[in-house]
Amino acid sequence: MDIAVTIKEVRKQVSEWRKKGLSVGLVPTMGYLHEGHKSLITRAVAENDKVVVSVFVNPMQFGPSEDLESYPRDMDRDAAVCEDAGAALVFHPEPSEMYHSGFSSYVDMDTLTGGLCGKSRPVHFRGVCTVVAKLFNIVVPDRAYFGQKDAQQLAVIRHMADDLSYGIEIVGCPIIREKDGLAKSSRNTYLNDTERKAALILNKSLSEGRKLINAGENSADKVKELVTGIINTEPLAKIDYVEVVSWDLLEPVKEINGPVLVAVAVFIGKTRLIDNFTV
Ligand code: AMP
Repeated sequence: MDIAVTIKEVRKQVSEWRKKGLSVGLVPTMGYLHEGHKSLITRAVAENDKVVVSVFVNPMQFGPSEDLESYPRDMDRDAAVCEDAGAALVFHPEPSEMYHSGFSSYVDMDTLTGGLCGKSRPVHFRGVCTVVAKLFNIVVPDRAYFGQKDAQQLAVIRHMADDLSYGIEIVGCPIIREKDGLAKSSRNTYLNDTERKAALILNKSLSEGRKLINAGENSADKVKELVTGIINTEPLAKIDYVEVVSWDLLEPVKEINGPVLVAVAVFIGKTRLIDNFTV
């Protein structure tokens, strides 16, 4: 497995593969890789001849008061995870390689990004769309892999790939969880022992919400009420949002009578965690 730090190196490697007629999968990440990321890489390795994993903490998707500086990083460990999972190339650029001085072109979206995480993180999806568009242009993969853990991001990227005619298959992968149900996340490392226990309230509340829907409840308000009530029993939890939205355009629904996304964002202490399920 090779590690590339420049766009030129990635292009050269991918063009050699293309000359041999090999297919290419891309897994974009911000690093500090865990089993959730690994499941994406493993799936990509199974479905493509060569897999590129990008490891890039993208400054553009962080707001001014967010955790860009403290975001965990460990490139040596990440490289070992990628190699173990069968990736052929890791792309680990410096921010200056992705955004040269004078950078001023962006990819943004009018729909899908106003609610959920987009509401409390107003610059986030412009950063995500711009960096993913750049990665698509650099790697030109056949398929790109994203986790359902970041459900809004997955929907946004699907929409962007379609709007901008990338011709890249966007593959959504299931949420990987700790044994006790907490969705794996690089940000879980911020939690102390008490907060780690408190964080279980996300999955616990969503599981009850899912049970209610499976039992036939079709009022989105009733589901939100139940999930909100359970999260509020945890003193360390502060809700950012609890939403029930359509699972395509992410528009709030009143009645659950088609595919919906039930999503939450909750601060546990200073750490903002997200989780969701689709039905
Ligand atoms: P990140 O490094 O957090 O930007 O995540 C990179 C990719 O891994 C995104 O597509 C995430 O949705 C996905 N991912 C992160 N955590 C998980 C998880 N627990 N299960 C599945 N996919 C995940």
